[in-house]
Amino acid sequence: MSVENVDVLIIGAGPSGSVAASYLHKKGLKVKVVEKNLFPRFVIGESLLPRCMDHFEEVELLDCLKKRDYEVKDGARFLRGDEVCNFDFSKKHTKGWDWTWQVPRADFDKTLTDELLTRGVDITFEEEVIAVDFYEDGSSETTIKNKLGERNTVAAKYIIDSSGYGRVLPRLLGLEKSSELLNQSSIFTHVKDINRPEGWEGTRITFDVIDLRTWLWVIPFSNGVTSIGYVGSTEFLESFKGTSSEKLKAMLKLSNYYSERFEGVEFQFKPVEISNYSKSVKQLYGKGYVLTGNSAEFLDPVFSSGVTFATESALLAAKLITKSLQSKTVDWEVDYSDYMKKGVDVFATYVKEWYTGNLQKLFFHKPENPEIKKQICSVLAGYVWDETNPFVKNHHRLVKAVAHVIDMEKEKSE
Ligand SMILES: Cc1cc2nc3c(=O)[nH]c(=O)nc-3n(C[C@H](O)[C@H](O)[C@H](O)COP(=O)(O)OP(=O)(O)OC[C@H]3O[C@@H](n4cnc5c(N)ncnc54)[C@H](O)[C@@H]3O)c2cc1C
Repeated sequence: MSVENVDVLIIGAGPSGSVAASYLHKKGLKVKVVEKNLFPRFVIGESLLPRCMDHFEEVELLDCLKKRDYEVKDGARFLRGDEVCNFDFSKKHTKGWDWTWQVPRADFDKTLTDELLTRGVDITFEEEVIAVDFYEDGSSETTIKNKLGERNTVAAKYIIDSSGYGRVLPRLLGLEKSSELLNQSSIFTHVKDINRPEGWEGTRITFDVIDLRTWLWVIPFSNGVTSIGYVGSTEFLESFKGTSSEKLKAMLKLSNYYSERFEGVEFQFKPVEISNYSKSVKQLYGKGYVLTGNSAEFLDPVFSSGVTFATESALLAAKLITKSLQSKTVDWEVDYSDYMKKGVDVFATYVKEWYTGNLQKLFFHKPENPEIKKQICSVLAGYVWDETNPFVKNHHRLVKAVAHVIDMEKEKSE
């Protein structure tokens, strides 16, 4: 069996793997990306955050994406019965991008890999990482199986695990840890949105809150297709019986706002069900490897943070590996793990407070407080490392504290 030598082996060619590969290739390192599937392939994670535009821009992947005319996302709308809360990314505390996209990921991910292939990045599709051996110095030998069942070996100085839900190294190295978030599950598909209203009303991403744990996402794409998906407690989703299509059809009736628009529309594929989607790991890096994107951590889809964390972590990991291969000192605990955990912690608070109902109180409170709204809007845009934002710096207590004030005001007025 022949052994191929590279500087960095990247497992998975999602946004995380592509951003890391683009940076490392530009730095002149020998990179190999191994991808289990043939692209285009479906994956969920279609609503991006403005923050990830910084990453695509830095690794020069923005221009190829701009050519695809994806639906622009310049804010987000939350509904709860008759209550409406609109966020507009141009009115946010932190400077930075005030728009991004709503993207069909099959096309989006393929656009990124096509661009990398034209630049000469080595990406092999339909090849799967099945085993990894690490040596004392952190170098490794990885066994890869192709679709014919043939195996080959790649020797690398570093591995970036961007395998998403494949969670290759967490599984192989026993790094998985149960998430401290609630057990939430999801069911979703794409529909040809034949009843889509004209203009903003039809195209703005919307989260329709059914109750504290249950909500529906509606993510319209520029090609006339819309992604729809329910999130709810695992127990609640399991209470629906029948095929996944029957379950989703029954659930769509829960939405007063959308039931008519999606009545009788054809599902483009059998709805996909993912149970207990939140994932965590014991550590984000080790000697010779680093976990990025979903292979490291996944919180919840409610604030669309997945792809942005995937690209943030991939870019940082690629920069630190480059430094390390230039024999510069890297403190992985501080420079990578602490940094990533800081952002994850902010979003984890918002996810937890969403499901306690505290954050929903802030969102739907009238009259709105424009200053608070701007600060929360920055978090929703993915700028969760900006400590000039009180709703970032004091995330642990501020959401709770403001919700408490709202409760007191309500009590007084009753
Ligand atoms: C219900 C739900 C809704 C979501 N909605 C959103 C959203 O609206 N916005 C958002 O930003 N995020 C969302 N996410 C999260 C989003 O799906 C992920 O965070 C994002 O796709 C992570 O990107 P990635 O590059 O880390 O992994 P992926 O995009 O999953 O890519 C990983 C790649 O690795 C490959 N791979 C896996 N195993 C192997 C192997 N053994 N060998 C080689 N290759 C392998 C896979 O084929 C895949 O192509 C959602 C998640 C869930 C569960």
